[in-house]
Amino acid sequence: MLVGGAADVLVVGGGPGGCAAAIMLARMGRRVLLLEKDQHPRFHIGESLLPMSMPIFAALGVRESLEALGVIKRGADFPSGNEDGYQVFRFVRTLHPTCPYALQIRRADLDQVLFAAAQKAGVTTLENTLVEEVRFLGDSVEVTARTAQGERVRYGARYLIDASGRDTLLGRLLQLKQADRRHRSAAMYAHFSGVTRRSGDDAGNISIYRVADGWVWVIPLPGGITSIGLVCGPSTLRNRGGDNEGFLHRMLQANAQLAGRIAAARIVGHLHATGNYSYRCREWAGPRWIMVGDAAAFVDPIFSSGVHIALQSSLDAATLVDRALDESACERTLQSAYSARQGAALRRLSWFIVRFNTPVMSRLFSNPQNGWRVEEAVISMLAGDFYRDEGIAWRLSVFKLIYALACLGHVRAAFSGALQIWRRRRQVFE
Ligand SMILES: Cc1cc2nc3c(=O)[nH]c(=O)nc-3n(C[C@H](O)[C@H](O)[C@H](O)COP(=O)(O)OP(=O)(O)OC[C@H]3O[C@@H](n4cnc5c(N)ncnc54)[C@H](O)[C@@H]3O)c2cc1C
Repeated sequence: MLVGGAADVLVVGGGPGGCAAAIMLARMGRRVLLLEKDQHPRFHIGESLLPMSMPIFAALGVRESLEALGVIKRGADFPSGNEDGYQVFRFVRTLHPTCPYALQIRRADLDQVLFAAAQKAGVTTLENTLVEEVRFLGDSVEVTARTAQGERVRYGARYLIDASGRDTLLGRLLQLKQADRRHRSAAMYAHFSGVTRRSGDDAGNISIYRVADGWVWVIPLPGGITSIGLVCGPSTLRNRGGDNEGFLHRMLQANAQLAGRIAAARIVGHLHATGNYSYRCREWAGPRWIMVGDAAAFVDPIFSSGVHIALQSSLDAATLVDRALDESACERTLQSAYSARQGAALRRLSWFIVRFNTPVMSRLFSNPQNGWRVEEAVISMLAGDFYRDEGIAWRLSVFKLIYALACLGHVRAAFSGALQIWRRRRQVFE
């Protein structure tokens, strides 16, 4: 076994979360080692970003480069009975204006730009290096990694940041990972050519469509490519019959509005599928370690929240680690505050996600009302404002009350929604 270098902080994973944490810690003067199992550029899902990430990209020094590589996304549109057939939630209408747009971008590009920024910030990066084992040795951490040539190498550090995404390195090794029973879904997705875009300012919108037992995203990417993905219950996927491409095609065609947009569409490249979808680790931090982004938890991507949560949790974690390295006595207190903050953001989102496909929520989203600026609070959430309370939290509580009253007013629809949520919880993955 070879012995590699030692660092203050070892980051596992070179996605958005790992790169953001590494950049910030390097700027704070820490020696950072980042290990990535793949080699950039590589395909990854998670292409629709949120406006609240834009100031973070600026702080990381990559905003301009990313804007040159992405499509400007000014809003998210959802099905509606209005004359357009869709209702746009425009980011210009948030409660606390931060940035009126986000980006739709290939993750190969986003992650490569962030990885290069980490190198520029002085982070030591190693690609094709898969971390397999982790040992905690009192006041240090040691990992064993395997290189592309099959060599096993040991690296040491004073602190470990797990940014390994859905691989959930520490969640698996420490047996902390739990499936989230409320979001039992699976996804199938691909890049397409020939998809009709919205016009004018709406051309860069993410479009969401409801289909039986799930929903579909349509994300315009640069170069005339469109990312389309289906999220559905595991039993729908299990009972699909026939080949994956035929199944995806049938599910997309079943929505008349969507069928119109994909009449001339063709898959470009591979079709991907993701099962065992949503999960959460019981602990997100412990002595000399912390999880960020998908390594800690994953919720359904209906609101395109994943990359923003990975970025924000990584900035929070970087501040925590920098302080804990100098003052170990405050580590536990900082970690409790970290877990509480990330947990609150996920709870805010989860309430909407679980109910999104219910008939009552469909009505509220297709015909939004802005009394007490409640609609603007919902748009703030759609823009990624999950962490702030100011003016948002109480308005979202009002929205929940409106939802409850609407359920009382439409008892049959509410019952069918509750049944839908209950059925989804009972479904299992094979
Ligand atoms: C179907 C689907 C659709 C989605 N759509 C969106 C969307 O539209 N918008 C959005 O914001 N989010 C979306 N997401 C979520 C998004 O993909 C993630 O939330 C985001 O990528 C999390 O970033 P991360 O840095 O935590 O993890 P990742 O981006 O997954 O990065 C983790 C990195 O760690 C590396 N790694 C893993 N294990 C090891 C190891 N043992 N050793 C070394 N390296 C390792 C991986 O190769 C990877 O590069 C979607 C997710 C799914 C499943």
